[in-house]
Amino acid sequence: MALFYWNTHLETGNHQIDGQHKRLFELTNNIADAVSGQGSLPDVPALLAELIDYAKTHFCDEEKLMCRSSLTASKKQQHICAHRAFDSRVQAIAAKSDLEQAEAVNEILNFLVNWLVTHILKLDHRMVHALPDRDDGDAPSLSVQEILIAALNESERRFRQLAEQAPTMLWFAGTSGAREFVNREWSEFMGLTEGEMRAADWSSFLHTDDRERYRSFLDERLRQHDAGLIEYRIRAKDGHLKWVLEKVMPRLDENRFVGLIGADTDVTAMKETTATLEHLVAQRTEQLERLVNSDSLTGLLNRRAFDERLDQEIQRAQRYNRPLSLLFIDIDHFKEVNDRHGHVVGDEVLRAMASVLKKGLRATDAACRYGGEEFAVILVETDKLEALSIAERIRIAAENTKLEQLDRSATISIGVSFLSSEDLAVDLIQRADDSMYVAKKNGRNQSYMQ
Ligand code: GH3
Ligand code: MG
Ligand code: MG
Repeated sequence: MALFYWNTHLETGNHQIDGQHKRLFELTNNIADAVSGQGSLPDVPALLAELIDYAKTHFCDEEKLMCRSSLTASKKQQHICAHRAFDSRVQAIAAKSDLEQAEAVNEILNFLVNWLVTHILKLDHRMVHALPDRDDGDAPSLSVQEILIAALNESERRFRQLAEQAPTMLWFAGTSGAREFVNREWSEFMGLTEGEMRAADWSSFLHTDDRERYRSFLDERLRQHDAGLIEYRIRAKDGHLKWVLEKVMPRLDENRFVGLIGADTDVTAMKETTATLEHLVAQRTEQLERLVNSDSLTGLLNRRAFDERLDQEIQRAQRYNRPLSLLFIDIDHFKEVNDRHGHVVGDEVLRAMASVLKKGLRATDAACRYGGEEFAVILVETDKLEALSIAERIRIAAENTKLEQLDRSATISIGVSFLSSEDLAVDLIQRADDSMYVAKKNGRNQSYMQ
């Protein structure tokens, strides 16, 4: 990329002079390219010879013109002095035999850049505008600063052209943080036209949960004038929520902070893969937990999970003085089922009984296969009377459920116990078990509470 772009603001309007100036611009740009590593360094004696040649013809032409201008004698003298200073500076560099090639080329480059800005843009413009045959009309002559800004805008335009073609998403913002430019990759990513992108309020594209965080991130960059990295979600035109990883850097002009540049990467696919994996892991963990806590035959809680849950519920009920009851359930004459129909049918009956329990209980109750053909149920927030009525409801449901394999129903006996303030789990279980034993003794197919 060239260091200086020739544009109309740099022209004096005198073709001869402008042609010579252009030649110096080109030479300066070539040296700048070489110094920035894009080409080999020029031969220093040849370069100096070219500058001496330039000075000889160009200054001679300019000084002839100057005689015709309306500049005061002192201004003419100042201009001629500047030309002589150019000559002597070139001679001085030529005399420095101890300079390495790179050092010499750098020194020449610095000198030429300074010359282009201070001499061509200032003294030469003033001289040409003071010529009698100059046809400026009323056109105001541009100040050096204005010409430089125009040149900068010219290079900004080219910078934008480059950014437009860049195969990555880029944006620029001024010192307020508001986007002034968003490149084509961004428009394509969003599925919006460049016009739509320009017209829209940028933050309206962001996921509502990310807006505040993103705004304070940008505010921080604007305050600190530093770089930062952020991830956020943005909604494309088709409604698809996408993930963006954004690097924000300060835009500096001669060390002056002039805004921000953002370079972005679409990380949606990566995020979606991670989310899928996290979901699978969560699913697997849940499956494993279920396996660890449940009885494989019936799907009810197993003994281990039940003991844990009972301790928690007892603690909670005693701390808050809430009612808690327990049911101990045993299938009547189950041994007979096994003996007559075999263990496979016995297992099916156990499963059928588990589903009678599940259907008859509330979501907050916890049913478990306590062992063999025995079940236990924790009834939270349940007093004695309610517990007995639930027990009866379940008993009747079992009695009324005809089991296909047996061609009849199976009955159950239920012992009920109610938690007292001093009870441990073992006490509550013992009383329920004792009650169940009484129910058996009293003829089975009944509920009992001591
Ligand atoms: P009661 O009315 O007095 O309870 O009589 P019962 O026959 O049910 O009592 P008992 O405790 O003597 O018999 C329980 C039987 O349950 C013994 C065992 O064969 C059977 N059993 C225990 N666990 C399983 C199991 O996982 N599958 C099957 N099919 N049978 C089981
Ligand atoms: Mg038994
Ligand atoms: Mg039994």
